[in-house]
Amino acid sequence: MKTIIRADVMGYCMGVERAIKIAEKELEANRRVISLGLLIHNAIENQRLADLGLEFQEVETLPEQGNGQTLLIRAHGLDPKVQKSLKERGYHLVDATCPLVVMNQKDIVKARESGLYTVIIGKPTHAEILAMKGFADEHRLSIISSEEEAQVLDIEETDLFILSQTTLRPDLLLRIKTILSKRYQLHEYRQSICPATQDRQKAVKALSEKVDVIIVVGDSHSANTRGLYESALDAGIPAYLVSQASALSCQQISAYERVGITAGASVPDYVIDEVEDLLKKFLE
Ligand code: SF4
Repeated sequence: MKTIIRADVMGYCMGVERAIKIAEKELEANRRVISLGLLIHNAIENQRLADLGLEFQEVETLPEQGNGQTLLIRAHGLDPKVQKSLKERGYHLVDATCPLVVMNQKDIVKARESGLYTVIIGKPTHAEILAMKGFADEHRLSIISSEEEAQVLDIEETDLFILSQTTLRPDLLLRIKTILSKRYQLHEYRQSICPATQDRQKAVKALSEKVDVIIVVGDSHSANTRGLYESALDAGIPAYLVSQASALSCQQISAYERVGITAGASVPDYVIDEVEDLLKKFLE
């Protein structure tokens, strides 16, 4: 008899749920609401919100004059200089930045005011990193995303404040810190990877010991979803990354006895349930 096992922790995190609730509340007030970029890294949920009236637009394409238009800052945050400029142009900002991202932004300001050189570990083009950059002194800031970049980082100062993208894989952060600590004195105010990422990572590792294959539900451009997928592969388990039930090849999965399911932090329960229901129908 084939079995399907869910990871102990998966799916929506606090910051994503909070951003969705803020968007829904603004829409319920019958306001026209524009999210600055896609609200979350999940196409299905973004479409549901679009059906409720949420619009998505990049800062660069907004009209010069805001005329009181409501703009929603998503969980990743937004560069404070951009926020100031939008307010001056007459936009009304509603801030859905995740409180954990805000804590990292505050730590960057604290480090800057303490005179420390800041090193951010994360993907330079990710929205959270682009927002973080705005809180740092751009002349005393480096952004790196790999062990190779850590090896060749060349900063004259010896004291560095380091923090990471909230969704970075904990093992990658540890490896980069080990490399940097050989040449620099590292300062950290606290763990900057968010507990939701760590909990989902621990859960996928535990799951990999109980199953023969892991289905990772989520969008491929979601950093934490990709992290779950890579962790499953690193554990030596075959893994499939699918955005929704219709993308799943049950034929491939039928070769395995014990099938695990996990999901990224932007995946609603109904999408996970549909994947599980399809697997149950096919395998049981
Ligand atoms: S992954 Fe963590 S930091 Fe990012 S939105 Fe979710 S709770 Fe906040």
